Amino acid sequence: MAKSRVAPLAKVTVPRMELTAATAAARMSKLIEHDLQYPIAETVFWTDSMSVIRYIRNETTRFHTFVANRVTTIREASNPEQWRFVNTKLNPADIASRGATMTKFLSNWTKLKRVTAHFIIFQNHLRNKINMRKGSKPVKLELNMSRDILEEAERSVISYVQRQTYGEEITCLKRRKSDGTGLKSMPKTSTLFKLDPILDEGILRVGGRLERAQLQYNAKHPVIIPKTSPLARLILEYVHRLTGHSGKTAMLATLRQNYWIPGASVLLKSITSKCVLCRKYKAVTQIQKMADLPADRLIPGDPPFTKVGMDYFGPFQVKRGRAAVKRYGVIFTCLTSRAVHLEIAHSLDTDSCINAIRRFVARRGPAKVILSDNGTNLVGAERVMREAIEDWNQSKIKKKPCFNRT
Ligand SMILES: [Zn+2]
Repeated sequence: MAKSRVAPLAKVTVPRMELTAATAAARMSKLIEHDLQYPIAETVFWTDSMSVIRYIRNETTRFHTFVANRVTTIREASNPEQWRFVNTKLNPADIASRGATMTKFLSNWTKLKRVTAHFIIFQNHLRNKINMRKGSKPVKLELNMSRDILEEAERSVISYVQRQTYGEEITCLKRRKSDGTGLKSMPKTSTLFKLDPILDEGILRVGGRLERAQLQYNAKHPVIIPKTSPLARLILEYVHRLTGHSGKTAMLATLRQNYWIPGASVLLKSITSKCVLCRKYKAVTQIQKMADLPADRLIPGDPPFTKVGMDYFGPFQVKRGRAAVKRYGVIFTCLTSRAVHLEIAHSLDTDSCINAIRRFVARRGPAKVILSDNGTNLVGAERVMREAIEDWNQSKIKKKPCFNRT
């Protein structure tokens, strides 16, 4: 009896959610196409699951019922060639399905320009297509991201924002161009009246009196941005980052190379007050609570320099004949009266230290307590003096006849 040649069931992990989503997409596409009653030239399905694409393209393997039913539905509503892979990081559907933080949605000034530039490029593509359909001559339109497109994007965003706030002023200036009465008819209550605004290629700029200055055009006639618009905040945040979180004056100077925002300093203050980095930079240093003073500094009555602090300072270059040698200063401070006594140390060794102390004692009298840091020479001097004192005591003891038992 001949064996059955039915292919074995595929034993793979089934991406159930992704396959179900693909099935829903295929059904939805069919429904939309039917209901729209509008010829759709091409439909492309994007998924971030390569497994789903392999299922759809596979025509030989026999799948489990769950997979087989869904793959059949997908293939009835679409062709395998219509399905393409998109990296999960680039999949916009992920934002809806997995969620995203608010910071991802915040747009900055550079991003806004680039997104607008993409829209302009898309618009140019559509215009080209329409022109080609009409059979008219093709017009040279920028179809790639370039500096010109970014500048056009910036102009279009600024023009839109200015029309929202300064519509009346723009109308006045357009009228002035035609009959020369614009500035007279502009209301004095307008915030722009003192700026003597001009209209250049549809963009409102500061007129001012710097026309003859040796400055760039944008600095002589900065673009006016209304402070109430979100764009003002975006531009100020951009300048804030550009200047490396510097001070208000530096930020305003950088801003006015290109833009004029009335009341910018108030807006800047609100931005810097919310900036974590600026708050760290400007934070007041914490002051440590000092401990109680030691008793040596507070008990009066002893002669000066009875209890002293001692430290080295220097070195200083000193001439000895034709050579230059190093010499160090030794400072003794009376802990009670804060009086100071200076000595010289010829080197950093222990002997020089002991000599300095001996000269100090000879001049100011014996000290009961000498405080110092753990400098090698000071520690050495302390050790040598301690050993010397111990020797004195032992020799004294040995000289006493009552203790001399040998
Ligand atoms: Zn900052």
